[in-house]
Amino acid sequence: QAKRHGRNRAMPYREEFDASVAHRLQLLNQLRDALERREFVLAFQPLFAPDGRPVALEALVRWQHPTRGLLLPGEFIGICEESGLIVELGRRILREAARHYALLVEAGLGELRIAVNVSAAQFTDELFTDIESTLQEFTLPHGVLEIELTESVIMESPTRAIELMQRLAALGVSFSVDDFGTGYSSLAYLKRFPIDRLKIDRSFVQDLGVDDDDAAICQSIIGLAHSLDIRTVAEGIETEQQLAWLQARGCDELQGYLLGRPQPFETVLALLRRSHGSAAG
Ligand code: C2E
Ligand code: MG
Ligand code: MG
Ligand code: MG
Repeated sequence: QAKRHGRNRAMPYREEFDASVAHRLQLLNQLRDALERREFVLAFQPLFAPDGRPVALEALVRWQHPTRGLLLPGEFIGICEESGLIVELGRRILREAARHYALLVEAGLGELRIAVNVSAAQFTDELFTDIESTLQEFTLPHGVLEIELTESVIMESPTRAIELMQRLAALGVSFSVDDFGTGYSSLAYLKRFPIDRLKIDRSFVQDLGVDDDDAAICQSIIGLAHSLDIRTVAEGIETEQQLAWLQARGCDELQGYLLGRPQPFETVLALLRRSHGSAAG
């Protein structure tokens, strides 16, 4: 009796497992097709200085799916990373992001940085070659291209990471540590890397003004970063209260839905042109 139960219980589990494997394979095939059909598009989210001046645009990939609409990275980035597809996708994203630099210059916004997220699987010598040729092809000056890496990408192989980052820094690439505070690394350790900015993870920003611990964490990150001559960026700002708190504590750059959502390039550009114009006038 017990044995049969066991067997009966095993069946649906296996079917579920097979279904999920089949689903993933199907998704992977669809992703390969999507790359062919150029269904990946970039949204751009602005970053601002405390005085409201725009300082950067972060490129965020979306999948314009033929039937399911616009899909967010959470639905497909993981499988792209596991399958290695992220290398080719990442190369396209880099070039596509860089292509917009000329349009920024045209709009009088050539001083903005363009930030691109890079996954662990992309963080290889191949990336150096891709970035080198992309900078050349689109004539990006030093300081325009910014790479966002998470702590785990850097700490996975610190010696290799530091070497690759130094070579890229020599090309004028700057580095931000994304989702800072969620990984396992100390600021003192990170100081050995050519890191320009720490992006304080959204989870700490969320409860500013509500949760004293999160306020203490944000305050500590800003203080310690500044003492090591590293700038700070707050991501995920959604309320005026969070914004005011961060401005008052000297956070260097600000990003979040309150200030600007990720949107098509033209839409962000129109927004920035308006705010820029009024600030200048
Ligand atoms: P991330 O780099 O930390 O990007 C920030 C995420 O938070 C984005 O989600 C953004 O839309 C969202 N966000 C921004 N402001 C707010 C806010 O005020 N409130 C809330 N709730 N969310 C906010 P998205 O676009 O879904 O991207 C998720 C993650 O996918 C990114 O996290 C990044 O790790 C990865 N990703 C996105 N684009 C790329 C890419 O081109 N290449 C690679 N390798 N990874 C990417
Ligand atoms: Mg990012
Ligand atoms: Mg982040
Ligand atoms: Mg994130």
